[in-house]
Amino acid sequence: MVLYRDIRTYGFREVYYQQAREAGVLFVRFPEGKEPQVSDAGGLQVKVTDAGTGRELILQPDWLVLSTGIAPGADNPVFSGLMRTTLTADGFFLEAHPKLRPVDLANEGEFLAGLAHSPRFIDETIAQAKAVAGRAATVLSRAFLDIAGQVAKVDPTNCVACATCVKVCPYGAPMINDLHKAEIQGAKCMGCGSCTAACPAHTITLQHQECNQMTAMLDELLVSDGGAP
Ligand code: SF4
Ligand code: SF4
Repeated sequence: MVLYRDIRTYGFREVYYQQAREAGVLFVRFPEGKEPQVSDAGGLQVKVTDAGTGRELILQPDWLVLSTGIAPGADNPVFSGLMRTTLTADGFFLEAHPKLRPVDLANEGEFLAGLAHSPRFIDETIAQAKAVAGRAATVLSRAFLDIAGQVAKVDPTNCVACATCVKVCPYGAPMINDLHKAEIQGAKCMGCGSCTAACPAHTITLQHQECNQMTAMLDELLVSDGGAP
């Protein structure tokens, strides 16, 4: 007999559930807040409420086996803060995109697999780990990395090393270098523009989104159709 709160048998794992039912295994769902009560008065005894009928069952099994629960790592919030990446509502690491980038974290060059991502079976973990190895190889096998042109750039002349850009960047791209000036690590920059707007010295430029370019685009947009906004 299996006592449970919830069962998820996605994909072909439904077959195992069917085989267990056909073999005579009984599944008893108990209500939330009414966990089974175990006592050893006169032998092992388990009291459980069947959610289907609302009746209390008293079982006297030979063995009581507890299944192991899976919880997110206790350090996940710390790592998430250090890596500037996102956790799910359940406390596991969130992939960049469930279909297009399923083993990538939001930051370029950082990947995840296995229980860092969610509770999963070993075959799923191995498949993810192979995908991560493949993704990492696409980076490590190159002598040079091509990066998108729209990245932030600091003019160090006016930089006062206030580290505002370091704090606001969601991808950890800016750093204060040995010359006490901000520097953007181009491979990490996603071109969001947050540092450009936040820099008090106005000394960061988002390439291809510079003020004169934006002004020219707005002028063109606003004067088209006879000047109608
Ligand atoms: S926010 Fe501007 S002034 Fe401050 S460290 Fe960054 S680039 Fe320099
Ligand atoms: S443009 Fe966005 S991603 Fe790039 S350094 Fe600035 S804040 Fe970070």
